[in-house]
Amino acid sequence: MNLKLITLLLVVTGTIIVGVSNLPESTATQLLSKPSLVAPISYRHDSQLVEVMKRLDLDYSKVNLIYGQYPDYPDAQAYYSGETNTMYLNPVHDYADTDKIVSHEYMHHYQHDNYVEVGSLHPILRRLYSNDTALYERMVSYRDGVNCPVKGCPIAHETFAIACTELADNSLEPKLADVCNRVLPNRTALF
Ligand SMILES: [Zn+2]
Repeated sequence: MNLKLITLLLVVTGTIIVGVSNLPESTATQLLSKPSLVAPISYRHDSQLVEVMKRLDLDYSKVNLIYGQYPDYPDAQAYYSGETNTMYLNPVHDYADTDKIVSHEYMHHYQHDNYVEVGSLHPILRRLYSNDTALYERMVSYRDGVNCPVKGCPIAHETFAIACTELADNSLEPKLADVCNRVLPNRTALF
């Protein structure tokens, strides 16, 4: 680029660099191409979990993937932390169920990223766990706040993850089945 033009551009953009026109052209170019001060978000992607994500055809571009224990629940086979937007897969997980376990946690990640959309499914999810005694009994530790708001509703979010990874379309209301099938393209292979 013409150095006079560079100087003009710097003046126009309000950048004060004295004597830039006397600098060698390569230096002037470096000044203009300085990286943005806002660093792009980078995610940790452990290869063992990437392998599973690829096999399941899941978009893992916006979630951390750690092949290790979740510190607060070291015995959990897998865990999703909304606070850090991180999925954990414990290396001592049940290998026979890896795809289902990872898909379940992935639905928690999806809910975290799309809480308005999943919030609109709450009436459907409520009907599902209200009409399925076994499912409701199974979620004993998630029952606090049954009439919970959109963003924090443990029983609805757990029902969402279970429904998409364990129940066939004919057990789900169509709107819920549509979301499950869109987010988990290989979900029918899970059950
Ligand atoms: Zn869960």
